[in-house]
Amino acid sequence: MTDKVIYLDNNATTRVDDKVLEAMLPFLKDEYANPSSMYEFAKHASNAIKDARVKVKEFFNAQSEKEILFTSCGSESANTAIRGVLNMNKNKKHIITSKVEHPCVLNLYQTLEKQGYTVDYIGVNSVGELDLEQLSEAVNDDTALVSIMYANNETGVINPIQKISEIIKEKNPQAKFFVDAVQAAGKVPLDVQELGVDLMGISGHKFHAPKGVGALYINSKTLITPLIIGGHQERGKRAGTENVPYIVGLGEACDIAAHHLKYEATEVKRLRDKLEAGILKNIYNARLNTGIANRVPNTTNIGFEYVEGELILLHLSDMGICASSGSACTSGSLEPSHVLRAMNVPFTAIHGSIRFSLSKYTTEKEIDYVNSVLPGIIEKIRNLSPYQDELAQLKKQKSL
Ligand code: PLP
Repeated sequence: MTDKVIYLDNNATTRVDDKVLEAMLPFLKDEYANPSSMYEFAKHASNAIKDARVKVKEFFNAQSEKEILFTSCGSESANTAIRGVLNMNKNKKHIITSKVEHPCVLNLYQTLEKQGYTVDYIGVNSVGELDLEQLSEAVNDDTALVSIMYANNETGVINPIQKISEIIKEKNPQAKFFVDAVQAAGKVPLDVQELGVDLMGISGHKFHAPKGVGALYINSKTLITPLIIGGHQERGKRAGTENVPYIVGLGEACDIAAHHLKYEATEVKRLRDKLEAGILKNIYNARLNTGIANRVPNTTNIGFEYVEGELILLHLSDMGICASSGSACTSGSLEPSHVLRAMNVPFTAIHGSIRFSLSKYTTEKEIDYVNSVLPGIIEKIRNLSPYQDELAQLKKQKSL
């Protein structure tokens, strides 16, 4: 184990930006008032929430601060959006989603199916792109809600949100469109007006705010019921005393991220591409699972044939390198990822697929180090593989 951690698991969570922490600290210490209190001391806290709401509103390019709801995480944003919309439209029982959504959406839909809803799960092709024709055919007059993620957490593949919105609204203008943008926030612009979405969720810890805070954009024409019932906070849409320091942190992270998108699209992408090119050049039968699909700039998902992904992760971990073999919620389980299964990644590669996800803190030196040690790790594991004949064949094909 090396002293320093090389953290290439930023789709699981990210390091808190120093400026975010700095902005939060006063509200963890001296400015501890309850923002709902009447006295002057509480004004600092309530004004800080107001300022943060403006920053988050700008991050989404929403029309009004009233369209922003603070939550505790991406899962809460999704649950609030989905349950809230369905509760307001109780006569409609049809929902559409994709097969590659995060468990916070998929598992909720499984629960809703048991409660009488019909759910259509739209498939993806071999590089992870959504089947838009299937989606269009699925929308009908009974459709209450469509929820499609902006970018996939395991592959980084971006869905054409604007086009999807047009398809939905053409077939059923009343159907609501929720977008889980947890993996898009801080990586690509989130312009809810241009994209034409009704609800969009984000999670602070995926873009350098702390864990425990998120937000949900709710278009002013979209009505929802609250998930948490109690006091009047968040305009009655989420009860509970506001988490002032974390809301301030989220606002700051949104502000920073909005000014950092160009760096993501250029420098983070350049390092991701360098890592990818190094792996594909130096390791035979490594496959880029997403092929030519449009992706967020920080993510690569590579399948190493005839190698167990968990073994790769253990060897990488011994060298201080953090990556993932599935989404954070499923790692530790040996079940192949539902995302890669939906893409029909061949069985020879599905168990050996690794996600590397970079951030603005990733350095060239770190990428060079990973590229220098990974071929040796794969070679070592393959030498112990029971598939020696198949591997010899693959090696021969590669050198032809
Ligand atoms: N949606 C996506 C695409 C995610 O990647 C995640 C977390 O990995 C979530 C939702 C859930 O976010 P949180 O962990 O903040 O609940």
